[in-house]
Amino acid sequence: MTISFEGRVAIVTGGGNGLGREHCLQLAQRGAKVVVNDLGGSLDGSGASASAAESVAEEIRAAGGEAIANGADITDLEQVEAMVAEAKAKWGRVDILVNNAGILRDKTFAKMTMDDFKKVVDVHLFGTTNCCKAVWETMREQSYGRILVTSSSSGIYGNFGQSNYGAAKAAMIGLMNVLHYEGAKYDIRVNALAPTAATRMLEDLIDSEKVKELMSPASVSPGVLYLVSEEAPSRVILGAGAGSFAVSRIYESPGVFLGSDATVDDVAANWEAIADPAGQVALANGGEQTGKFVEMAATALGIDLKQEQAA
Ligand code: NAD
Repeated sequence: MTISFEGRVAIVTGGGNGLGREHCLQLAQRGAKVVVNDLGGSLDGSGASASAAESVAEEIRAAGGEAIANGADITDLEQVEAMVAEAKAKWGRVDILVNNAGILRDKTFAKMTMDDFKKVVDVHLFGTTNCCKAVWETMREQSYGRILVTSSSSGIYGNFGQSNYGAAKAAMIGLMNVLHYEGAKYDIRVNALAPTAATRMLEDLIDSEKVKELMSPASVSPGVLYLVSEEAPSRVILGAGAGSFAVSRIYESPGVFLGSDATVDDVAANWEAIADPAGQVALANGGEQTGKFVEMAATALGIDLKQEQAA
């Protein structure tokens, strides 16, 4: 199978460095017209420079592809809207949005300032949301859209010293879950990536050159391309790193009905059964959990819900 992006227009945020640069290059190699967005700041989000985005756009053009550079700060909705307008003016549509831009301000929660917490949430959560918002109407009108949000193992599983980053990255999953449902009617598919790669973000944590080589950003991008391709799934969290790919899911244990008058002691006494993973499932949406709990209660109490609803 050969996946092509011929005729597709893609916006990649944070495309001037690391993972975003590779996503841009690989999309362009397969025919996409690419808006390489990058504020060109430092790892902690300070500063700005147009050169990062420009050099990647130039690299694509030099290889015969089509690309424009854009220096919008994704935390600024007006700048993001102008970027989308520029893409549409040049190429008529926006098919793909790869939300990749991000920063780090790691500190233990005890030492974390609220400014550092808010800044990280602002870039990852509000920056991503701005970009989704700015393309949403266009994708609805086109009845076609592919959106990727970049989460992280830190958001899914947790990492010491990253309360701001982990919270923001977990929020990506919440955003994906809901946009998946709201976009489905318009063939807008929304997925999340949890990458791991030897970029400047991980530089200080990897001391082996061999491991750095294995963890190339280029080894992650094929997963991104699949998640924004025509045949993409939707509402998937894809882990990718060093050439391996895996899907993360959130499961819910079957649970135990303890009665609406259950006490804290009952919860404690039944903890093992409540937490027992045997028979756990990944629920399709929030309503399924409510439905499950009501059904468990009705079954335990001998209530016929169908009869109750008809009455
Ligand atoms: P990177 O620092 O190399 O690249 C991030 C890019 O985003 C930079 O070029 C930066 O200028 C840009 N950027 C930052 N703030 C911006 C803003 N407000 N507007 C526009 N551009 C902005 O880092 P990377 O490792 O390539 O990270 C890419 C994404 O992957 C990030 O979202 C990061 O959180 C995520 N991630 C990376 C790893 C990893 O192992 N490298 C792991 C988990 C998640």
